[in-house]
Amino acid sequence: MATIRSFIKFWALGVFALYGWLRLKITRSPTLIILTYHRVLPKNAPEREFEQPGMIVSPENLKQHIRLIRSIGAVPMHLDEWLRKKKALESLPSLSVAFTFDDGWRDNYLHAFPILRQEKVPATVFLVTEMVNTEDTFWPEQVIQLLRTSSTDLNDPVLGWLRPYLDELANKSTPFSLLEADKVISRLKDLDDASILDHLAPCAHSLKAKQNAPSEQSPPILQSHDLVEMAQNNLVKYGAHTRNHFRLNRLNSKAALEQQIVGCLSDLESMKVNSTPIFCYPNGDITGGGEQLVANHYLAACTTKAGWNKLTRSEYDLHRFNLHDGNSSNPRTLLAIIGRSLV
Ligand SMILES: [Zn+2]
Repeated sequence: MATIRSFIKFWALGVFALYGWLRLKITRSPTLIILTYHRVLPKNAPEREFEQPGMIVSPENLKQHIRLIRSIGAVPMHLDEWLRKKKALESLPSLSVAFTFDDGWRDNYLHAFPILRQEKVPATVFLVTEMVNTEDTFWPEQVIQLLRTSSTDLNDPVLGWLRPYLDELANKSTPFSLLEADKVISRLKDLDDASILDHLAPCAHSLKAKQNAPSEQSPPILQSHDLVEMAQNNLVKYGAHTRNHFRLNRLNSKAALEQQIVGCLSDLESMKVNSTPIFCYPNGDITGGGEQLVANHYLAACTTKAGWNKLTRSEYDLHRFNLHDGNSSNPRTLLAIIGRSLV
């Protein structure tokens, strides 16, 4: 049975890949493909042991994506440049591609930037502005760190809040596997982000102490000097990904939405980096009030919906393809990702 399933999967992948390739080759009306990345980590990076696999692409894969997408005739372009040309009714290539990186990980500077510079590929990095220049990391990474550290005692009263979310893993002791930690993270999404961070705060100090020797990735989030260097020659621009990476549908007041949406834009402007007023919804979560604020203050917004963007697509509903090592490690799987969303 498993053999039949993998046989069908193999052929379905081939069909989707062929379909994706054909559609990309024959597209005539201007189309924009937006690729989404998060972390860029070498295959042997120790950080991979503490990260959700769906968040990581290797530098080799990133380079392969750039070369493949170019080989089928796509023109790399800044996202805001494509939107500007569209609005001004200027001519656009039949197929353009915009590279985007969410969250502002420092590994983007260490491992993506050299490739972008070498390949002359412009990109937009969506920053979580209150995390820039800090030693902080996001709550899912803190939870993984807790669960993957053998000395963490899950019966410690300070972790009492976490136990209901362990479910069938409640009797297990640390370290958890990445897959197990990933399950706990999914369940924790029932809570709002600020509450999770409040719960984690008392653990943060001991977490830092337990961490291995500081790696080249520390601090984990981009710093001001990285932002300046990447923006040279207009290679990288910076968009908004809220102030604290709070999911907007978990915020229950207009003031909180304004903080995250409008506040993030004013942070970007006062940082005096190469910013562009494009918003990116954390986790893809949208609320009516939030959408209105985004439309009032930004030029465009990126979602987590998969698909390509024709001229008719609303600039506040941009579709993207989320790529990582698990779904696009060779040309066939990358084209299948693009092909599947077109069916
Ligand atoms: Zn994000």
